Amino acid sequence: MKFVVMPGQARERVTPDSRAEPDKLPFSAPGFPAPAFGRPGNDDSPGTRPMPSYDPNNIFAKILRGELPCHKVYEDDKAFAFLDIMPRAPGHTLVLPKAPARNLLDCPPDDLAHVAKVAQQVAKAAMKAFDADGITMQQFNESAGGQVVFHLHVHIIPRKTGVMMKPPASEKEKPEVLAEQAKRLAAALAAG
Ligand code: AMP
Repeated sequence: MKFVVMPGQARERVTPDSRAEPDKLPFSAPGFPAPAFGRPGNDDSPGTRPMPSYDPNNIFAKILRGELPCHKVYEDDKAFAFLDIMPRAPGHTLVLPKAPARNLLDCPPDDLAHVAKVAQQVAKAAMKAFDADGITMQQFNESAGGQVVFHLHVHIIPRKTGVMMKPPASEKEKPEVLAEQAKRLAAALAAG
């Protein structure tokens, strides 16, 4: 697939390979082991190998239980949202279901639908709070799909025209910066 680059428009994804995810190495990358498990729809063994089960000690489960801190922006009975500690752009937010779900593949559809609803609300609020020109939404499933933390989450990343996202997990943001941004986004969400 080819993209037409308009004058003044930055494209980050220009070839089929890089379009797949320039910032998430595929598992065939040198130095990366093959995944230990398959999952439904895997090319080499469609639907025959079980997905690993949910690990209640993953870092987001600990945040949801209040055992680790976060910069919270939203919470209701079924969903939770907080700022990514290594944002790819200012205001980078993660939206999670509260119920255990490893990723898209094992999430009950109703929980997934609620996450999508909250993700839309966060995206709209982030447009205002961060004076964004657009939103990049990302969601990764299993290691082969680029997932690193195994509790379902959706990335909401405010974007400015012509500004590239930072690579994933490249730089930890200062806590005071995240605190101010979380406050700003929570206020925009509350304002509707
Ligand atoms: P992924 O599983 O690849 O979709 O991404 C996991 C995301 O979690 C990355 O963007 C990390 O920067 C982010 N992350 C990891 N640990 C924390 C944490 N303690 N608080 C907030 N975000 C985190």
